[in-house]
Amino acid sequence: MKIGCPTEIKPQEFRVGITPNAAHEAVRHGHEVLIQTGAGRGAGFEDADYIAAGARMVDTAEEIFAEAEMIVKVKEPQAGERKMLREGQLLFTYLHLAPDPVQTRELLASGATCIAYETVTDDRGGLPLLAPMSEVAGKLAPQVGAWTLQKANGGRGVLMGGVPGVSPARVVVIGGGVVGTHAARVAAGMGASVSVLDRSLGRMRYLDDVFGNVFNTVYASAATTAELVAQADMVIGAVLIPGAAAPKLVSREQLSTMKPGAAIVDVAIDQGGCFETSRATTHQDPIYDVDGIMHYCVANMPGAVARTSTIALGNATMPFMLALADKGWRQACADDPHLLNGLNVHAGKLTYYAVGRALGMDV
Ligand code: NAD
Repeated sequence: MKIGCPTEIKPQEFRVGITPNAAHEAVRHGHEVLIQTGAGRGAGFEDADYIAAGARMVDTAEEIFAEAEMIVKVKEPQAGERKMLREGQLLFTYLHLAPDPVQTRELLASGATCIAYETVTDDRGGLPLLAPMSEVAGKLAPQVGAWTLQKANGGRGVLMGGVPGVSPARVVVIGGGVVGTHAARVAAGMGASVSVLDRSLGRMRYLDDVFGNVFNTVYASAATTAELVAQADMVIGAVLIPGAAAPKLVSREQLSTMKPGAAIVDVAIDQGGCFETSRATTHQDPIYDVDGIMHYCVANMPGAVARTSTIALGNATMPFMLALADKGWRQACADDPHLLNGLNVHAGKLTYYAVGRALGMDV
């Protein structure tokens, strides 16, 4: 199969859909890999790396879309890219169609078959192509939170690990899933005193079994959440209710109970955020102040570490990309119900129930 990977064109997107390693694997499987010139540069991959892997460099996205049978990307196709998709072509990328009727209509009109990373499942009930980005965002959260806590950034001027004779920062993580666990591990590794709040006893048992006393687990009742938030130097928001907006767990009024200059890192901002005062920010201007509490609410945190994120995503997508290329999408999805769950659009029809429900469209 001819597999094509254009340069990402969404603003501030530095990741790339196919790494040189993934290109090499696809070539080993007998496929032809077309990479747009310069596509990997934002993630630190040069054209020479792809050529060494056996890929062919192509100058324009137009040529990639015209030639390739499967397009592998990171972000949803932008308007100009959607116009280039055609009937029978396979698109494998993040789509996030539920809040995006315009994109959905244009993908339907293209006649292409579109498999969305975010709805591919695994046999433990997880989302294996979303998890790597949650791992990245989780590990990044204490790092950006520590920076936010510095005085020059409006923060409280507290060092995460303290020093001999001075207590470390108190970090509260709300939500102990993929993001929360990675955030808690890094915050504890930096020497902070960490508590993880969750509502799932099963999840807290798991965290306790695996991490022991590295951090505390606390049941997330409204009262305990309020109490711990008031004592915190840093609060990391990492809750998720699948398919729903994030619940607002900390109100504006509660900010007045917090320590002046405390940092909020709302990783759940891509689902609306779990603090009443959260609004999405960008890497250019990531922090703002509400009532003396510094908020970091970047909606695409993994973009800050595009190289790590690209490799992590590539590791997760590669087996699915190879299955799609080796067998064709019909057989690959017939063999793997988890990959079939990724199918959102096929030949002018919506094939994913939750997207149809969200957009009021027939499935
Ligand atoms: P997850 O499903 O692995 O974990 C969510 C956890 O929240 C679960 O353990 C759940 O029990 C817990 N939870 C739900 N309601 C709660 C409540 N009221 N109080 C306490 N805990 C509660 O999800 P995840 O992969 O860790 O993702 C967390 C959030 O981070 C999501 O909104 C995801 O979209 C977001 N995210 C953002 C970025 C970014 O760049 N900003 C990147 C990756 C993920």
